[in-house]
Amino acid sequence: MIIVPEKEIGALLGRKESYEAIEQVFAAMASGNAYNFPVVREAIGHADALYGFKGGFDQAGMTLGLKAGGYWPNNLETHGLINHQSTVFLFDPDTGRVKAVVGGNLLTALRTAAASSVSINYLARKDAKVIGMVGAGHQAKFQLRAALEQRNFEKVIGWNLHPEMLPNLEEVAAEAGLPFEAVELSGMTEADVIITITSSFAPTLMSDHVSDGTHIACMGTDTIGKQEVGVDLIARASVFADEIAQSITLGECQHAIANGSKAEADIRQVGEVINSTHQGRTSDDEVTLFDGTGVGLQDLAVASAVVDLAVEQGIAIKVDF
Ligand code: NAD
Repeated sequence: MIIVPEKEIGALLGRKESYEAIEQVFAAMASGNAYNFPVVREAIGHADALYGFKGGFDQAGMTLGLKAGGYWPNNLETHGLINHQSTVFLFDPDTGRVKAVVGGNLLTALRTAAASSVSINYLARKDAKVIGMVGAGHQAKFQLRAALEQRNFEKVIGWNLHPEMLPNLEEVAAEAGLPFEAVELSGMTEADVIITITSSFAPTLMSDHVSDGTHIACMGTDTIGKQEVGVDLIARASVFADEIAQSITLGECQHAIANGSKAEADIRQVGEVINSTHQGRTSDDEVTLFDGTGVGLQDLAVASAVVDLAVEQGIAIKVDF
């Protein structure tokens, strides 16, 4: 068995490798070669923690396993640890023997940023110049760094419920040599691409905050009850998801499905666009929206890439098991 500790991940896996792993696994999902297992998520009644499992099997990449982890809200204050904690376990699909244990915290941020990046690459207008961020927390910095590599963006604009967090976005824009402007939600009409990455339980970005031709990546809603955008925006947009089953139950589309303003049949997998079995964007006026709910196969894909790199570079810890 191979162990790749959390502290090694940053030096091993970059945005390029993460992007490639996620593009491949979304393609495999859409062609029926990979599927996710039902998600388990439980309030365990201890330390206010939410704990669960996301797993799957990718027959194309021969990746089998799960990510175990969740949210411990008191970690930072009580233990000096980050509140989100996860670990990926990979198994040999031929024998069922455990193959690897990989730290999952940084991997989660990298694979989530890669997912919106894939959606921007395949669905945003080629001439997109302004990127708008709704959200400025931990994930937002990863999201923005990855997104900026997908188009020749000239400006970053941002809105956040807690304006004191906006310097997080300004810092990433500055790294890329781009100007940053804090805007009201109404100012998001300037954006050609918008990423929403908040932990909101009520819609903030509404249809009249979005211009025709915009691509929106909704990345924050990964749980029943969360919501970042208005159902009017979902109804107006051509919607693509990582996985339709998650999109309609725990993703951004859950509310539009519940009130009947979007039909499940109108949501497509982004992997279909990657595989060229769906044309994706059809005009420069169309609003496209990616519902990135976060699937277990994404975690397995990046963990598998990390294991290969750790072995290649002699960093993998090998244990007889
Ligand atoms: P964080 O705590 O670092 O940041 C939270 C962000 O949400 C901040 O910008 C904050 O200002 C904003 N926010 C909080 N309450 C809000 C409200 N009521 N209305 C609007 N904005 C509000 O969290 P993070 O680690 O950046 O995660 C952000 C979200 O992304 C979470 O909901 C998390 O569960 C989700 N997430 C999704 C995936 C995925 O694969 N889709 C992966 C990881 C995290």
